[in-house]
Amino acid sequence: MIYLDNHATTRCDPRVVEAMLPWLSEDFGNPSSVSHEMGRSAAAAVQQSAATIAATLNVPSDSVVFTSGATESNNLAIRGVCLHPRQKKRHFVTVSSEHRAVLDVGDDLQRDGFRVTRVPVISNGDDAAGIVDLDQLAEAIDDDTALVSVMWANNEIGSIAPMKTIADLCHSRGVLLHSDATQAVGRIPVDMLDADVDLLSASAHKFYGPKGSGLLVVGNGNRRVRLKPQIVGGGQQQERRSGTLNTAGIVAMATALKLAVDEMQSQSEQIRHMRNKLCQLLCDGIDGIQINGIPLDSPNRLVGNLNLQLELIEGEAWMAATPSVAFSSGSACSSVDAKPSHVLTATGLSESEARRSVRFGIGRFNTEQQIEQAAVWLIESHAKLRRMS
Ligand code: PMP
Repeated sequence: MIYLDNHATTRCDPRVVEAMLPWLSEDFGNPSSVSHEMGRSAAAAVQQSAATIAATLNVPSDSVVFTSGATESNNLAIRGVCLHPRQKKRHFVTVSSEHRAVLDVGDDLQRDGFRVTRVPVISNGDDAAGIVDLDQLAEAIDDDTALVSVMWANNEIGSIAPMKTIADLCHSRGVLLHSDATQAVGRIPVDMLDADVDLLSASAHKFYGPKGSGLLVVGNGNRRVRLKPQIVGGGQQQERRSGTLNTAGIVAMATALKLAVDEMQSQSEQIRHMRNKLCQLLCDGIDGIQINGIPLDSPNRLVGNLNLQLELIEGEAWMAATPSVAFSSGSACSSVDAKPSHVLTATGLSESEARRSVRFGIGRFNTEQQIEQAAVWLIESHAKLRRMS
């Protein structure tokens, strides 16, 4: 199997596995049990991990809250700010191309009486395809807006948002900005202070760490952020998120992030090269392919992302006909009634165009040989489908 689905998840790096193992075996103390040495040792590891993560994101160490992943982080950020007892404002602004882990929280707030605005994105074919329309964002923010949430990089078409511009826009109106940076952290430089983003979600399994370990950064030091906890209990993490800390997962996440940041420059070049090669091979071997989203040579697109639209074949059919390559279709989930991707339709693609689209995510463990082999299999299976249809 050739794995080209690195936006869905990544393989845990062996160096990360090695770093986390002691915290699952001999060093198994509870970081809250600071009355004895084993607990203190685990607490120190958690603290060190928070410091490492905070340094890479350029935020104070105590602003890092550990969670089970970006879904939980998004829930905590949005509900936490909007539902804080001292929050008087009742309007939440987000973007139509966000992940469901943001959009569904908005839907839920709406059921609870909040007003929610989902700002459109720039259409496919434009150099800024998939990026929030800044004029419409500015118009959407009003005196009742409690929070704006804009993703840093999109998980389907890889568009990278101008976060500093968006933050300035929010702050000029006195509104906090949350960013779901799940696809950005570890892939592109993310400096929360420089971009002046107030809250940020990320997840270890997107940057070669384990699943089930995520983080929410609450505040970059510039502004006060009041957060209503969503999980209460033992009062861990300054009451912001109760529950015994996942020491191994936290150490793993910090290790993975440090590696990703240290190796970002050299790996980005390699990954970009492989992504471009895959695109070239497929476009040469299959007639009528179009690239969805921002042009590949733009700095505003993730280097590992490739989203292609076929002329005649549905993505689901291509995937089924190519079992040796892991990639994903332009449909959300693989349920029986797979809906076309809301991200692609948000960029103006028709449902049919979205269904004829596929996403590849190239990552650290891919090789050029794999890219060549995958392209051969993909072209073969596409030709077979064409003969059948
Ligand atoms: N946001 C984005 C942009 C994502 O790509 C994902 C993962 N698909 C999530 C949120 C959810 O992350 P997790 O799997 O850690 O809950």
